[in-house]
Amino acid sequence: MEQDLEDFRFEVRAFLKEKLSPELAERARSGFYLSKQELFGWQQALYKKGWIGLNWPKEYGGPDWSPMQKYIFEDECAQAGAPILITLGLNQAGALLINFGTDEQKKRHLQPILDGTQTWCQGFSEPGSGSDLASLKCAAVRDGDHYVVNGTKIWTTIAHWSDWCFLLVRTDNGGRKQDGITILLMDMKLPGITVRPIIGLDGMHSLNQLFLDNVRIPASDRVGEENRGWDLMKVVLGTERVSAAGIWKAKAHFERLCLIAKSEMRNGRPLIESPRFRQRLSWLYLRLQALEEILLSVLADTSKLVGIEASLLKLRGTQLQQELLEMISEAAGYYAIPLHPGVLRDGWGDEEPIGPAYAAPATPFYLFWRKSSISGGANEIMRNMIAHTLLG
Ligand SMILES: Cc1cc2nc3c(=O)[nH]c(=O)nc-3n(C[C@H](O)[C@H](O)[C@H](O)COP(=O)(O)OP(=O)(O)OC[C@H]3O[C@@H](n4cnc5c(N)ncnc54)[C@H](O)[C@@H]3O)c2cc1C
Repeated sequence: MEQDLEDFRFEVRAFLKEKLSPELAERARSGFYLSKQELFGWQQALYKKGWIGLNWPKEYGGPDWSPMQKYIFEDECAQAGAPILITLGLNQAGALLINFGTDEQKKRHLQPILDGTQTWCQGFSEPGSGSDLASLKCAAVRDGDHYVVNGTKIWTTIAHWSDWCFLLVRTDNGGRKQDGITILLMDMKLPGITVRPIIGLDGMHSLNQLFLDNVRIPASDRVGEENRGWDLMKVVLGTERVSAAGIWKAKAHFERLCLIAKSEMRNGRPLIESPRFRQRLSWLYLRLQALEEILLSVLADTSKLVGIEASLLKLRGTQLQQELLEMISEAAGYYAIPLHPGVLRDGWGDEEPIGPAYAAPATPFYLFWRKSSISGGANEIMRNMIAHTLLG
């Protein structure tokens, strides 16, 4: 078995060497902004190989891997600098449809989600309804074969690229607030949808606010029963937490930090030789190892996906990620201070890099990932959930 896994690791490594261009890997690893074509082009390459939808059952096109194989695959991709795929379709919409979708919905969406021809966004949060999601107000009123939707959604990642949105709407105002919520699949081409960009701390556009003005969504695009959306949504959020923890990403950041610290000089010698720096590095490494162990236990028992292990991974994984990116920015030195959004988006073009090539994306990348302790459930909420489960 051990040998089989080693063979599998070499197979993944060989595939990445053949299909992932070093330029794309370097851009992705350093934090340059990738285009939709680059991201979904990489998804296509994985799709052709059958290595996509890692958590999907085989009958829907998943690769049917053991937890250990999935772990090795993600680990090798992160080490090789493979682009981080947008998982709103693959993980969240996929989990929702596979578990609760009608045959018609599965037929219409699953294959295009897998091959990357259908892009999805998540319409959950609203101004004033983020952590307290059940208080959401965006209303859907039944009108014959349609729901008429009015309201707003905020922080909607990649809505400007998306073909579809899985949307939480209020269909009932009586009783417990969790009990009046329904999930609808919204075609982003429907009349009445306005997508307004929100520019992030890094100067880039990945977030949006949606304004929904009498949007008519066919009732056949409802997932599950009316007013039962809250329970279905928990399945989606569980998978979101484990991927938000980003342990593989943290491992790749660690490697990168070591490389930068070897080439950056402080007081006449490489930064990596500074005792203070090495002490911080060792502490991060130990925590990384511990989180990897917890991640393996979650992968081996998927019932833990919605348990406190997932909350713990999200909390500690994102803290670690942020500390690593902060250290990368510090290690990159003065040249990491200027902000060049154009460079991040389009590459250097005719300009020469100011300082080493790893410097320009270091701080924006750090700033962008400040989001990881908020999105996918704020870390304070994770703490509340852990405390509630353990202490009652
Ligand atoms: C970059 C980014 C991408 C996102 N993408 C999406 C997306 O694609 N789709 C989507 O639907 N949403 C998305 N979100 C929204 C995200 O889910 C919310 O931001 C998150 O749930 C927090 O909600 P909020 O922003 O309203 O903050 P609030 O809930 O108002 O929280 C503000 C602060 O108060 C704290 N707080 C709140 N309640 C408690 C409590 N009970 N106990 C202790 N502390 C508390 C929070 O931890 C936080 O520090 C994204 C957010 C970000 C930053």
